[in-house]
Amino acid sequence: MDLVFEQIRAGGDRNFGYLLGDRNAREAVLIDPSYSPEVFVERAREQGLQVTHVINTHGHPDHVNGNDQALAMTGARLAAHPLLRPELLLEDGTEIAIGTLRLACYHVPGHAPDHLLLHERTADIAMTGDLLFVGKVGGTGNDADARVEWDSLGRLMALLPDVTTVWPGHDYGVRPSSTMALEQRTNPFLRCADLDAFLHLKATWAAFKKERGLK
Ligand SMILES: [Zn+2]
Repeated sequence: MDLVFEQIRAGGDRNFGYLLGDRNAREAVLIDPSYSPEVFVERAREQGLQVTHVINTHGHPDHVNGNDQALAMTGARLAAHPLLRPELLLEDGTEIAIGTLRLACYHVPGHAPDHLLLHERTADIAMTGDLLFVGKVGGTGNDADARVEWDSLGRLMALLPDVTTVWPGHDYGVRPSSTMALEQRTNPFLRCADLDAFLHLKATWAAFKKERGLK
């Protein structure tokens, strides 16, 4: 296996998308290639990689608006949670092969009902979409969704080893990527002792940030 992995600044609201591939097998996937799908496709082409799938972390417009163009340019298949009605349904526990890479998909709702966590197991790379950012977590519209997100974050922490690198859907943190160990040590939402503390932090996040000079 010869890993190809690129974090690409797509545009929009500091959106990140990703190119993930196996150079020896000449196969790759595009993850959330929004706003500038042609840039993602070009990065694959330049490296002689055939794009087999366009994958979405979730169905919000800022993550899926490049799908049609990326699919038309590559002939790839769309792979996403069943709620998005893709060609390839990614259920909880589905694993996609990209050459010798293995991309495991887990259903982690809360920020969005169709949200997936994508974990490449051989290199221990996690694309966390809008579930987990560097230093914060995805927005939720109400307490019921926040509860669901709390459970999803617990699952993410149980699933991913400390050494896993974390690659979010937006560049909202002090650095563009992180590790599970670093997030568990420094991300105030992952440090909450229980659901009540998590809900309280969500409700008071603006004041929390202001107190600490966070952006
Ligand atoms: Zn979103």
